Amino acid sequence: MSRHVKKSPSLCTDRPLDNADICNKLSLLRQLLASCFGPTGRLKQVHNSIGGCVVTTSTSSVLLPAISSAQPFVNLIKSSILNHVSRFSDCGLFAATLCLALVERAKQSGLGGNVAIGLNKHLLGLCVSYLQREDCGCKVKLDFGSSQHLVTLARSIISSKPACVLTEQETLHISKLASQAFLLTLPCANPGTVTLGRTVTASVEGHSVLASAVFPGLLLDVTGALCPHKAESLNSSPMCVVLFSASLAGDLPELGDGIVEVPSGVDTDSQILDQLLELGKQAVKDEVKLFVCQKVIHPVIQQYLRSQGIIVIERLGVTLMEPLIQLTGAQPVATLHSTLPAKAYGKVRDLSIRQFGSKTMLHLHPPGESAICTMVLCHRNETMLSELKVVCQKTENVLRLTLREPSALLGGGCTETHLAAYVRHKSMNEVTETAAVLGCSQSEYLLGVEGFCHSLESVAKALEHNGGNSFIDLTHAHHWTLRADVMSGCMEDMTGLCGCGLVEGSPSRKWTCLNSKYTEFSPASPSRDSPVQPRVLDSFTAKLNALQVAVETANLALDVFLLVTFLNVSMVIDSG
Ligand SMILES: [Zn+2]
Repeated sequence: MSRHVKKSPSLCTDRPLDNADICNKLSLLRQLLASCFGPTGRLKQVHNSIGGCVVTTSTSSVLLPAISSAQPFVNLIKSSILNHVSRFSDCGLFAATLCLALVERAKQSGLGGNVAIGLNKHLLGLCVSYLQREDCGCKVKLDFGSSQHLVTLARSIISSKPACVLTEQETLHISKLASQAFLLTLPCANPGTVTLGRTVTASVEGHSVLASAVFPGLLLDVTGALCPHKAESLNSSPMCVVLFSASLAGDLPELGDGIVEVPSGVDTDSQILDQLLELGKQAVKDEVKLFVCQKVIHPVIQQYLRSQGIIVIERLGVTLMEPLIQLTGAQPVATLHSTLPAKAYGKVRDLSIRQFGSKTMLHLHPPGESAICTMVLCHRNETMLSELKVVCQKTENVLRLTLREPSALLGGGCTETHLAAYVRHKSMNEVTETAAVLGCSQSEYLLGVEGFCHSLESVAKALEHNGGNSFIDLTHAHHWTLRADVMSGCMEDMTGLCGCGLVEGSPSRKWTCLNSKYTEFSPASPSRDSPVQPRVLDSFTAKLNALQVAVETANLALDVFLLVTFLNVSMVIDSG
């Protein structure tokens, strides 16, 4: 029997960004993401309708996958931002809010799609070449001679994730740990190809954040599996380690490749157990002190090895295998059919036991330099701990980006306002020639510049969530906020600091409301000799890429000429 389904006609939406429904959805998405932005961003709770795990977050990499929409535009922007975050770990919300603001402004300005796209490309080029200049006023060279810049960069990322629920002191503690962990993963003495080490994260729930710590080497959770006094007695260095990736449970299907010859009438189980015991005996003979298996070890073997004074760890899991191989130099044994080759053995210099709340950890010290370290993260409950874990991993990735480009951008909205002022000034001086090159009128050009700068400023403005007012100073073009209860007329009396903390308020300084008209000026760079250090820094590499992604994605959305929706599948056609 066959069933015929009448094919529904495809739904075509001409110039989709002229469609009010689509524009409303994009505007809603912008408001949603902008409301999460920065240290005081509002948290979102993500859960499904049938119960299960509830996630509290403001992180784009957690939030965006949870937003499902039938609207292809929403999905286009979502996948573009997620792709950026998967590569650069930071500035996802910046990219998303800037992209959506650019689309919204371009539509409001009434500029033709092609004109807006051409202008956005040109202005992006201005920004990128300015950011890459040595004398760029919103960039700082990172000083690896001290940990201050690294800690500031880490702190800016960690403090912008309020779902971690950290006090000032806890934020600083975790920022220092993240910087310390990053430095421990940099190999020092090896000439030739440099391979970065790695940070393994262990989490302990129900403990104070301030109990979190970083250790060189590897900490393995051995709660309930080990007699501590045995480990303490085993500190004759260095110690021999053997590591199995094959199961030692004694089950036939888990024996791996090879042939097992079983004469008729013989008990297979005891044959296999005998074979495993032979391996155990060899390990004892070869003076193995630490016997680790990725999977399960038969209780009889465990008993035998322990009786010989060997520390046994089973069910290590696949994620810890690689760091353990790197640390010990052991080659994991994948088959049980031969004797253990000498090259399978690895070494550790020292073993000790560490206690974190109810967790017992075995601390393995590398025999030489290994660039492996363990970050033990503690937090009061599971939700906060899982957000803290995500944030620390992102921070590590961002710190690693500084090896590629040892610079950072000023945070707190100052890079956005400074860039907007720079673009305004630069483009005012080239109206006639650039408008001619781009094939648009001078008034269209000015409208496009205003839309672009306004979008950048709106991202800085989005950092404020408590009804405060945003300002820009007319010397350095940095970003300032005043609490909602302070009259904006009192601006001249303001003696605080700008968003990044580099510029100090003074009575002679002039400010204007952000997004109000001001006479364009060339924004000055803060003095490089000043002892004042920025308090908020953003990753240069991540933000530069986020800026490019935001403008390119906005241009792609502006370029869509026809939206064709099939019954179940949507297709987007670019304009030709
Ligand atoms: Zn600043």
